[in-house]
Amino acid sequence: MLFGDDSQRFVSDLLFFRVHRTTKIMAIIGIIIYVAAILCRISYGYPNYNKVLDAPKSQHSGDGDLLGFHRNLTPTQLPWLNEVTTKLFDSSRMTIDAGTVTPKPTTIQLDDVFLAVKTTQMNHAKRLNIIAKTWFQMAREQTWFFTDTNDDFYNKRLNKHLINTKCPKGHSRRALCCKMAAELITFLEHRKKWFCHFDDDNYVNVAQLQLLLSEYDSSSLWYLGKPSVASPLEIKLSETAGHQAQFWFATGGAGFCISRPLALKMAPVIRNEKLMTISDRIGFPDDVSIGFIIEYLLKVPLTVIDEFHSHLEQLDQIPLQTFRKQISYSYASENNSWNVVKIDGFSERIDPTRIWSLHCHLFPHLNACSTLR
Ligand code: UDP
Ligand code: MN
Repeated sequence: MLFGDDSQRFVSDLLFFRVHRTTKIMAIIGIIIYVAAILCRISYGYPNYNKVLDAPKSQHSGDGDLLGFHRNLTPTQLPWLNEVTTKLFDSSRMTIDAGTVTPKPTTIQLDDVFLAVKTTQMNHAKRLNIIAKTWFQMAREQTWFFTDTNDDFYNKRLNKHLINTKCPKGHSRRALCCKMAAELITFLEHRKKWFCHFDDDNYVNVAQLQLLLSEYDSSSLWYLGKPSVASPLEIKLSETAGHQAQFWFATGGAGFCISRPLALKMAPVIRNEKLMTISDRIGFPDDVSIGFIIEYLLKVPLTVIDEFHSHLEQLDQIPLQTFRKQISYSYASENNSWNVVKIDGFSERIDPTRIWSLHCHLFPHLNACSTLR
């Protein structure tokens, strides 16, 4: 009979056995979760890590180096750069650190992305029409246009997202930097996780852009884009001191993306015409200046995204079967010859840029594409 001392001992033995077994099982589960977490971290933590361009080691280190860099430059040597790095260093302390542990990224919603398109009055009719009727329809709420005039006609067609930056018209460094600064500052005013810049001769494969950004942790520092040069840019920072800066930059004409924490770090040298000043000092336009700030001053390396394409590339080399996975395209015409993607579709007379044909290739079910079906 299971009564008395024997039965009590039996019950307590049983309890001890169960508690012991439960503890073991929990320990094993704990170890499995830990190992799985490490494996996930390895697989997902730094996607495309291998693609990070191999700039000199000193450029890849964190905030400590920025401080070191700051100390190495005395105000008498390079006052403007000294002022810039002081601003960056002060702001770095307020935002998150570079290179903190990256948890597995979460899926990005389209609404987490701010798409900025740089344009100008003389391009409205020539270039905005194509965008308004093609890829803009895939991101009507998320895409904003930065121009240099009021234009009610296109403002209406672009969901009232055409912003007059009041920047100077023209292709000067200052005009382009003024618009780029307006793009970044407007992004910071919106609660979005990613800033992506495009030119008005870009076609954006919005769904693919969203997929790309989902691979990266938006709470870390990311600069995603594609250089159009084979080696990092080398610029002289001063004649007398002999300082050289070496850095990669993402070509603006291919589009590039910046995570919010990185944009916050950049803000002090973007606002109040600071980007213009930097551009003037280094003697290069807006996209190069952005690369200088991110890669050289903030030590955040450019992550190369092959699926961004500017018209500095030979666009007819992009294989048709890869069109779906490409993220940005462009087009250009020089001396009556077009640099465009190679695709069947509408006639070259109707569609010289090939953007309509590309759009219909990606979205054949659209009404506008019915004649191609
Ligand atoms: N752009 C501008 N103002 C100008 C000329 C161009 O804002 O006076 C913009 C244009 O809208 C485009 C970008 O700068 O988004 C690049 O211009 P474009 O494609 O004409 O020249 P690229 O630099 O590509 O040769
Ligand atoms: Mn262009």
